[in-house]
Amino acid sequence: MPSFVVAPVHSIAPVVRRRPRGANGAKLAPASRVYLPALSVAGIAAVLVWVGWASHWGGANFAGSIASLRVVVSGPMTLGIVGVLLVVERVRPAQRRPIFARGYRQDLLYMVLNATLVVPLVIALTLSFSEVVHQAFPWIVLTRVGTVPRWAAIAAIFVAMDGLNWLAHLGNHRVRVLWRFHELHHSQEDMSVMTVFRTHPLIHVSYLIALLPGIVLVANGALPTTLLVLYGGVVAFAHSNTNLGFGLLGRVFVSPNYHRIHHKLDGPQDVNLGFALTIWDQLFGRAVFPTEATIRTETGLPGRPLVVEQAGDRPRHLSVFAAQLVAPFRPMDELANPPTLRTGTRWRGEMVDRTSHPSTPSVDRAGRGTAEEPVLG
Ligand SMILES: [Zn+2]
Ligand SMILES: [Zn+2]
Repeated sequence: MPSFVVAPVHSIAPVVRRRPRGANGAKLAPASRVYLPALSVAGIAAVLVWVGWASHWGGANFAGSIASLRVVVSGPMTLGIVGVLLVVERVRPAQRRPIFARGYRQDLLYMVLNATLVVPLVIALTLSFSEVVHQAFPWIVLTRVGTVPRWAAIAAIFVAMDGLNWLAHLGNHRVRVLWRFHELHHSQEDMSVMTVFRTHPLIHVSYLIALLPGIVLVANGALPTTLLVLYGGVVAFAHSNTNLGFGLLGRVFVSPNYHRIHHKLDGPQDVNLGFALTIWDQLFGRAVFPTEATIRTETGLPGRPLVVEQAGDRPRHLSVFAAQLVAPFRPMDELANPPTLRTGTRWRGEMVDRTSHPSTPSVDRAGRGTAEEPVLG
């Protein structure tokens, strides 16, 4: 267990304050029981799945698409890449961690969740989104341009997809309802290659826009599954606990040392948002390149606004897992330590933290607040 993890037993449990009731004990409005904006994200996903199902997935092969995505998420090539990176992490770690660190075990649960339930959900969302776009904007699909070689179309799709992933990721950090889903990814204090799987299933709704280049250019080329596996491999590698900056290549491709700055425990988090390429961060002034000082930076969320497996005397993986997945729906007024959008801005070439902490209680790393003691519900 990392040396900084010292936590009281009770901090493992989700912090719940007793809900206020009306003067005569009447039930309060739904908004006091659930965070309604989060419900709207779930609603969009549900509507999309229903539309796709009702339209027979636009004639696409649902089962075949699931099989293809399973290859990307948990196929032999992906498992091979993950296996190699797990070894590289032991050989050249950025931070010393036990081989069975709590965070690793928790992220393994997310890996299983992705390989089983998330794959069909993402396929349903993907096929439905494509069908809705085709129906609403049929002119968006370009016809085959004979002079454009297929590899050029594939390269264009790849770069544009990476750019739109960057944009959606920026949205995850700027829009509070999206942050409440994305917060889970940033809560990891034991980064590893498996942290790439530590995402809320519903966050995929925000990344649907990255499908647009593939829809527009479908007649000219399509991303081969192998390229998608490699893309996933690069993103997974960026999360690994590896001290690697890629040298000059690190100016173009996202390295582990580069992405770890995005997961930094303190300071702005809307920097180094790139998935595979750093060019988007550089274009929009959001790139912070690694230095000796940033390589071993701690990761996670200050004050642990989201329950994490590192807190408490026992990890309690399954109950923490359930609490983490339910967390985005909990009303803000139930939270002792509300989620903070940590943003930065460039000032004379330096990235400056412009996060405001109007209501954040003073808390240390282990989540022990100096604010009022939480009441466990
Ligand atoms: Zn992020
Ligand atoms: Zn990440």
